Amino acid sequence: MNIGLIAHDSKKELMVQFCIAYCGIMSHHNLCSTGTTGKLIAEATGLNIKRFLSGSQGGDQQIASLIACNEIDLLLFFRDPLTPKAHEPNETTLLRLCDVHNIPMATNIATAEVLIHGLERGDLDWRMIVNQGL
Ligand code: PGA
Repeated sequence: MNIGLIAHDSKKELMVQFCIAYCGIMSHHNLCSTGTTGKLIAEATGLNIKRFLSGSQGGDQQIASLIACNEIDLLLFFRDPLTPKAHEPNETTLLRLCDVHNIPMATNIATAEVLIHGLERGDLDWRMIVNQGL
C-alpha cells in the first residue's frame, strides 16, 4: 500500500511519535511525505520515505497529484486547525481528492490509530482490488 504522510509544524513531533510507535507496520508499505515531515520521520525511525517538496513549496500538491491518480491508499495528514496557513487552499484540494477516490484519510492521531490498525488487519485490502482494474 502507498501511504502519504503530512504534518503541520505543530503536529510534526506527534507524527514522529506515531511513526516510531507503528514503525513495524509502516515498514511493510511504500511511504511518501512532504519534505520536512519525511526528513524528521526518517531521522527518528530509519524508515525509507520518498520525500517530496516542502508543503509551502508545493509538496502537498505533489501528493495531491498522486491522490488524483488514485495512487495513494492511505493519507495521514496531521493538521493544525488553530494556525491559519498561507497554503491552506491546497489542503482543501487534498481532502477533496481523497473523497473523490474514497481514499481513507486521517487528519488527527485518533483516526490515524484506527486506520493503521485497520491497515494491519487487512481492512484496506479492498484498495488493491479496486486498483487492479485501473
Ligand atoms: P513540510 O510540509 O512537511 O515540508 O513541513 C507540511 C506542511 O504543509 O506544513
